[in-house]
Amino acid sequence: MIVTRFAPSPNGPLHLGHAFSALTAHDLAARQGGRFLLRIEDIDGARSRPELADEFRRDLEWLGLEWDEVPAQSTRLASYDAVAHELLFRALGVLYPCRCTRAEIAAAAREIAPDGSPVYPGTCREHPVSGDTSHCAWRLDMARACAIAGPLGWTDELAGEQQARPELFGDVVILRKDAPASYHLAATMDDHADGVTLVTRGMDLFASTHVHRLLQALLSLAVPIWHHHPLLLDTEGRKLAKRRGSPALADLRQAGEDGRALADRLRAGELPAGISLSDGLHSES
Ligand code: GLU
Repeated sequence: MIVTRFAPSPNGPLHLGHAFSALTAHDLAARQGGRFLLRIEDIDGARSRPELADEFRRDLEWLGLEWDEVPAQSTRLASYDAVAHELLFRALGVLYPCRCTRAEIAAAAREIAPDGSPVYPGTCREHPVSGDTSHCAWRLDMARACAIAGPLGWTDELAGEQQARPELFGDVVILRKDAPASYHLAATMDDHADGVTLVTRGMDLFASTHVHRLLQALLSLAVPIWHHHPLLLDTEGRKLAKRRGSPALADLRQAGEDGRALADRLRAGELPAGISLSDGLHSES
């Protein structure tokens, strides 16, 4: 059975871009009698506002969607930690502690990863941290991890067959200093645990899938298919964002707008003035 998911982070209210994403995932499952899951990704440290999750549920209901909710990420912290330490660190030896600050990394980095972040220059891999690691992030030794996993591929329903290129990201963080787990580890483990067969999300996360595919191989997890959908863009071609003036769904809902009618318009590709659908594969985030 096809299982899709919508996995919003309660860092800010949902807007039209999220509505489009949720509808896409919902409809892909519904068309084939599958399941559509909601997973609240609430482990983003200080940015996370768990109280927004209730608003998200009201927004989805207002759009006329039905879903099965799986446990929020904040309830799964022990599993991320156990897998990172037991499998990646002890069994595979592909994790190491890192004490570098963002500023140090930015100053020493020579390359930029596909998600726009600086590629870690390898300082704490070359000069291992000794002593207390309690305030460290834990990074993946990318070269070693890729050597263990060997060449990997993955399939996107829209973009077709892909060769996994996780090395473009360098030594990514797996356990964060300021939060229990990185997005990469948490999303990958949860999609497996939740039985997701079609990972549906915006194409701004397309490149992250290279890293997720590698983690699946290292952790012997099931390999789903992906569906990275186009993004809703503003007049300047940027992804919609509340901070750039895109209205929150909660505001439209509270102003009495008909959510189901809005959902039908989005399905039909009728976008509000000033909003367009991206067509390239690697839209700016
Ligand atoms: N939680 C992520 C976000 O809100 C989405 C992660 C995903 O779909 O894999 O941007």
